[in-house]
Order: sequence, then C-alpha cells, then structure tokens
Amino acid sequence: MVEQPTMVKICDILEESPGVKTFFFQNNLPFVPGQFIMVWIPTLDEKPFTISYIQKDIAAISVLKRGEFTHALHKKRTGDLMGIRGPYGRGFDLQTGLNPCIVGGGIGMASLATVIDSLPDVTIVQGARSASEIIYQKRFPMMKLCTDDGSIGFKGTTVDLLKELLKTQTFDKVYTCGPERMMYKVVELCKNHEIDCAVSLDRYMKCGFGVCGQCDCSGQRVCIEGPVFTSAELSRMEDFGKITILKTGERAILYKH
Ligand SMILES: Cc1cc2nc3c(=O)[nH]c(=O)nc-3n(C[C@H](O)[C@H](O)[C@H](O)COP(=O)(O)OP(=O)(O)OC[C@H]3O[C@@H](n4cnc5c(N)ncnc54)[C@H](O)[C@@H]3O)c2cc1C
Repeated sequence: MVEQPTMVKICDILEESPGVKTFFFQNNLPFVPGQFIMVWIPTLDEKPFTISYIQKDIAAISVLKRGEFTHALHKKRTGDLMGIRGPYGRGFDLQTGLNPCIVGGGIGMASLATVIDSLPDVTIVQGARSASEIIYQKRFPMMKLCTDDGSIGFKGTTVDLLKELLKTQTFDKVYTCGPERMMYKVVELCKNHEIDCAVSLDRYMKCGFGVCGQCDCSGQRVCIEGPVFTSAELSRMEDFGKITILKTGERAILYKH
C-alpha cells in the first residue's frame, strides 16, 4: 500500500459516455475488485475513485464529471500526471460457482466492472437516467439496460428490472453499487428472496485510511471496513440508506422512506 501519493502518467484516455472518461495508468499495485485509490491533483484536492480496469501492469479509473475536481480530471490529456495512493479498503469477496447478478446504477458500474471481468457467466443490470449515461456498452455487450426515461432498454429503475428478472430466474448472490437509495432497495428486495448481497458504499471520504471518521456509517469506516459490506453487516448498520455525514461533519438525513 502506498501512503504518499505517487505521480503516475496517464497513458490512455477512453470516453465511455459524454460525462464519463476512463484514465489508464501504468501500475503494478495489487488491486482487488472494489478497492479504491485516492487521486491527487496538486494544489487542488484529493478524492476517492474505484479501480475500474485491472490489466497486466495497467489500471484505470472511470470518472463522472460532477464538480471542480472531476472537471479538472476531465481536462487531463495522455502524458499528463496525477498522484495516486492506495489501494485502500475491503474489496469484493468473489465466489465462483454461484449464479450472480450484478446491479449497477450510474457511475457505480465502475466499481462492478472488475467483478464482471473476474466472474464467468454473470447477469448484468445497468441503470441510468437516460441512454447517454450508459457506460461500458462495448465492454459488456450482454448487459441488460434500464433507464428512467426509457430511452434505452427497460423503462424503470434497476430495482424494477431486478424484480422482473426474479419472476423467472434465481440468483445466489447480488453485487451492487450505485446511489445509496437504490442499493437500499436492492438489499430489501434480495432479503425477500433470501439472496445474499455484496454492496459497495459511496460515502464522503477525506483521508481514505481510517483516521478522520468522515465516512463513518454506524461505526463502520467505509474506507477501512468497506467500501464493500455484506447484507448481514448492513442489517446491523442502521445509518445505511438513512443517515449520512456531510462534508462539514454534520449528520444528515439521506433519504426519507
Ligand atoms: C469509495 C469511493 C469510490 C468512488 N469511486 C468513484 C468512481 O469510480 N468514479 C467516480 O466518478 N466517482 C467515484 N466516487 C465519487 C467521487 O469521489 C466524487 O464524485 C468526486 O470526489 C467528486 O468531486 P468533485 O469536486 O468533482 O465534485 P463536488 O462538486 O465536490 O461533489 C459532487 C458530489 O460528489 C461526491 N463527493 C465529493 N467529494 C467527495 C469525496 N471526497 N468523497 C466521496 N464523495 C465525494 C458528493 O456526493 C458530492 O455531492 C467514489 C467515492 C467513493 C467514496
């Protein structure tokens, strides 16, 4: 694990959708699917990003353009440098021999992409607001898509689509990452069908190595004990799907159910 940022050269950039770019860099760190790195842009900030491609000597992050930091990353060109430290966190515990379903919402697919690469014969559900936000279509052509506006695939949410699939299929395990409200509903649905879940939480993070307490969820540090949690662990984490900690350190209601 690297605790001080190391400067790496961006060796390739792939536009996954109008809002998402993937930045490839030379790497020989041992990443487990679901782990993340802290990316540093000198004089600006440092933010967490999951590893979305793991290849021999090369890794990548896929970045959704949102605010100041991700806009700055999107301006980077091949040959530019960025600082990285990590890998951090507990990734997915991948079990072979099961019949799994992957459920990704929006940029949450970045965290699941290396799970898909590692497991044979997975069912994949990707949801987005509209067709232009779908990513990795060429990488995973077998994905079942859904959109809020119906511009591609099933019209509805990933939870609606998973519910449809469960009418005719069974799964032994669901791996999910996306907005917390979506994941909360996926976990509830899976509970009713007695399906085990592995959930990657995305909480506001500052240090990335368990010191600051910013990403706490019911006493669990998402950066150390997570970001991946099992449904059994989440059932003991009352804040999951309900309470978050804002950048200011204040506790706030995440969603009203
Ligand atoms: C474990 C983990 C893995 C992540 N992986 C990815 C990824 O693969 N691709 C990706 O595009 N995004 C990922 N994110 C979210 C990413 O860190 C934020 O989108 C990014 O920091 C936004 O910064 P900004 O300045 O562009 O936007 P801002 O305007 O500062 O924020 C936009 C939104 O991004 C989120 N955010 C901002 N800062 C942080 C932070 N320090 N920690 C967590 N969330 C933050 C908040 O929800 C905020 O509302 C991940 C977050 C976590 C915790």
